Amino acid sequence: MSSLNTDKPPAAPAAAETKSRLPKPSSMYMSTGLDVWTMMNQIAASVNAVNLGQGYMSFPPKEFIKKAAQNTFAESTHNQYAPPRGRPALLGQLGARFTEKLGRPIDPNSEVSVHAGANEALLSVFTAFLEHCKGHEVILMEPAFDQYTPNIIMAGGKPVYVPLRVHPNKNPSENVISSKDWKLDINELESAVNENTRILVLNTPHNPVGKVFTREELEAIGAVAERHNLLIVSDEVYEHLTYDVEHVSIATLPGMWDRTITVGSAGKLFGVTGWRVGWAVGPEELIKPTLSAHTRIVFTSNTPLQEGIAASLKQAKENDFFNIQRQEYQCRRDRLTAIFDDVGLPYVAPDGAYYLLANASSIRIPQDYDFPQFIEERGDNFKLVYFFTKEFGVSGIPPTEFYSDAHKNLAKDYIRFAFCKTDKELEEAKRCLQKLKEYLKANPS
Ligand code: PMP
Repeated sequence: MSSLNTDKPPAAPAAAETKSRLPKPSSMYMSTGLDVWTMMNQIAASVNAVNLGQGYMSFPPKEFIKKAAQNTFAESTHNQYAPPRGRPALLGQLGARFTEKLGRPIDPNSEVSVHAGANEALLSVFTAFLEHCKGHEVILMEPAFDQYTPNIIMAGGKPVYVPLRVHPNKNPSENVISSKDWKLDINELESAVNENTRILVLNTPHNPVGKVFTREELEAIGAVAERHNLLIVSDEVYEHLTYDVEHVSIATLPGMWDRTITVGSAGKLFGVTGWRVGWAVGPEELIKPTLSAHTRIVFTSNTPLQEGIAASLKQAKENDFFNIQRQEYQCRRDRLTAIFDDVGLPYVAPDGAYYLLANASSIRIPQDYDFPQFIEERGDNFKLVYFFTKEFGVSGIPPTEFYSDAHKNLAKDYIRFAFCKTDKELEEAKRCLQKLKEYLKANPS
């Protein structure tokens, strides 16, 4: 009997003991704190605020886009794995679109890869071009979309930050300024490059500044990349949303195609951020390793919605969708800027994308205002956004979240608002922010 018993697996340890003996999670994922999006959504919900925080569309996609997705499931092959590079129908549409946009013939079977959103395209590029333990560095311009840093670290690289800076002649706490006034100092950029630098990430149109880099600015950035032989990752997920300015893809500038991967997003292009379809476009030499990394990360993006996007791209051309959509977003931008003009809160007027940075330095928060501990410990910018949301009933995002610790100070007075929202919500925001008017009057800066 006893010998039989010894063959049995040892009795399971008590629950607490099991817990203590488990491997510790990676320090990167140990934090039990809420991510900024969840935190701000919860605060918004607690006061039933108009949510202009997270950049998802609160209006439905157009009928032809919804139909394209609904129809796709009927085809049995659309419910099975797609080839890792992407469904032929989508690759074909993207090849045609980028042939036109980049002014060169794009081979969809070697120069395009389809991803699970732009996020996964970016992670695939970083994974493909960075090596662990080799000290590879990636330059980010701040404010920088918050996924870049963890994606670079996951891929074994080190992010190095160069902030955009507001022109010193401007006074953004008192006057409306243009997103054009946020400049990259090329000398500062160049001095951040060293022998370990591998990649330079560009984002145009820019989240959250709304800046659309000019041809001249891109030429200067391209020259730095050329001098130091860097790969350029150009995040152009908002390429379709520019307001009376030209969007230039850096890949179209002389000599740049060979060193550039352009990243895009169907979620942004068609207002379907939940579909998780994105892409990378570049020379075969750069897309091949990106595709290999993608194959190991997610293997392939979902089939039915790739087909849905392929059909939507085809129809968008026929029904002038992108021009109509651009006009609709321009109206939303103008509605939001008119609200801030009316209440007297300065902002950065965006030339592209769907975000607006309001400068709230003139708002005086009462000394004895009661902040919860989790906000208190995140610093002044979080306190400002918390106060704004609670008191005025309109929520935003603290843009310091888009900065490294060393540069957070540059954004401490700003709140980011997203205007990919319904007319009704923007109207409601207008009504709520009337309170701000009185408040600013009572508290001259
Ligand atoms: N880049 C930028 C600058 C973004 O703002 C976003 C989404 N907010 C993405 C990439 C990610 O796009 P996707 O949803 O296609 O992953």
